[in-house]
Amino acid sequence: MLVFSTRPSLGIPMIAIADEIQRRRTFAIISHPDAGKTTLTEKLLLFGGAIQLAGAVKARGEARRARSDWMKVEQERGISVASSVMSFEYAGHAFNLLDTPGHEDFSEDTYRTLTAVDSAVMVIDAAKGIEEQTRKLFEVCRLRDVPIITFINKLDRDGQEPFTLLDEIEQTLALDVTPASWPIGMGRDFLGCYDLIHDRLVMMEKGTKGALPHEGEACEGLNDPRLDARLPDHAVAKLREEVEMARALCQPLDVDSYRAGHLSPVFFGSAVNNFGVRELLAGLTRMAPSPRPQPTASRDIHPQENKVTGFVFKIQANMDPKHRDRIAFVRLCSGHFKRGMKLTHVRTGKQLTMHNPTLFLAQDREVAEEAFAGDILGVPNHGQLRIGDALTEGEGLRFTGIPSFAPELLQKARPLDPLRAKHLGRALQQLAEEGAARVFRPVIGTDWIVGVVGALQFDVLADRIRTEYDVPVMFEPTTLYTARWVSADDSALLKRFVDSNQGALAEDHDGDPVFLARNAWHLERAAEDYPKIHFHKTKEQT
Ligand code: GDP
Repeated sequence: MLVFSTRPSLGIPMIAIADEIQRRRTFAIISHPDAGKTTLTEKLLLFGGAIQLAGAVKARGEARRARSDWMKVEQERGISVASSVMSFEYAGHAFNLLDTPGHEDFSEDTYRTLTAVDSAVMVIDAAKGIEEQTRKLFEVCRLRDVPIITFINKLDRDGQEPFTLLDEIEQTLALDVTPASWPIGMGRDFLGCYDLIHDRLVMMEKGTKGALPHEGEACEGLNDPRLDARLPDHAVAKLREEVEMARALCQPLDVDSYRAGHLSPVFFGSAVNNFGVRELLAGLTRMAPSPRPQPTASRDIHPQENKVTGFVFKIQANMDPKHRDRIAFVRLCSGHFKRGMKLTHVRTGKQLTMHNPTLFLAQDREVAEEAFAGDILGVPNHGQLRIGDALTEGEGLRFTGIPSFAPELLQKARPLDPLRAKHLGRALQQLAEEGAARVFRPVIGTDWIVGVVGALQFDVLADRIRTEYDVPVMFEPTTLYTARWVSADDSALLKRFVDSNQGALAEDHDGDPVFLARNAWHLERAAEDYPKIHFHKTKEQT
């Protein structure tokens, strides 16, 4: 007899909750721009039945490339908010796909999004191999041992040989790889793939861009005569030889090793032709981890725990620019969330009632009635929620590992109308609290210095300040080199440092002291003169 406990307050069998957690896959796609992330996203949604018409996601991908178009799209908000998280069902599993902006200027947002996923799909262009942005994003995944499935895309075009690509991934990323499928030909001669996990021959059908390809044909291993019947002689011979070599050279496909982040199963395909997408989804279903425990300062939170916990990993302005509502994206880490529930906002100790949390379906935003670990909730708020904040049923948790970045570009913010300086100050303070930028107020003078990681962030900030706060603003270059938060064990020493470096000192939005260096030498000199002052590149999100 199956025995399970029932939570009296909700009447939900625990076993059902465990099932809900088990069937969830929360992941992100990492790639270099143009590798095919948008196309693949769209195809995943198509397979998941979340969109009927291919093209919805695409429009955004193209818009992103052109800066002016991108701004327009961003102003409309709806699209970008709705597609920051996309949820869909496939084969009895619930997928949450988190968008990671591909443009390198948005790396800060992207990196933080990676703290909210349990696994990632790395898309690589077969012709280009590992590119800069892929490598950077991969490093962030590695910091958290995020398991990665690789999808080598654009096999319908001439690219590098599969062995060269596998070798490049292994060498460049120091990651074991093993093929989960093997391509048959390439470019104009690309015929399809052999699915090494399920022993199936999947042929590429030309000219069926909109339709889903068939499931392929089961084979009894590579020596099955069906292969000889379906493929030209030279292609079968090559397939057999290459797979034999790959099996000899690569590690076996060990799911535990993948889940520990040591080994990446590699799928080959062509996203634009829908090819290889089904196999990738099957791979995610079968191998990708369900919600993983999340680290906090005091203990790990396990998804099966009864009480609801979650953390904010991203904040985005709401759809309507006239309202200063923002949506805080919360990754649920445990418990069974129900609409209307009261959660404690740990940083302030206040109770928040979750009246209108949002779940994100591909095109529509739906009010969430219930959600489980691994799900992403959109919580509308007026700025009280910040990146890194914890929401719990009372426990004073602090989630760790949410990165904060040293601002590498520093510019002066100035209102076009000098009478609106105060308003600008308020806007900057709020944006800093939200985690959209670092804002520094120099001790001497009246300027605001804004620090970001990527230059395009200035445009986005200017746009937001204008539309949400009604303050037209300009950013002007400065000669500042970098910013460092300063601290010391001895408060008298810190005061001495602050007093004698007034010209280079500023306060951040929390009033903490920051040293603004004019150049590398200036920073080095200060560090040498004050060896007991600590210069921090980042500040823990508090
Ligand atoms: P993203 O920047 O990574 O989101 O890339 P996109 O999905 O926008 O794709 C970049 C370009 O590559 C677009 O022109 C796509 O049509 C094209 N593309 C995507 N997948 C494939 C593929 O499998 N084969 C070919 N030939 N082109 C592709």
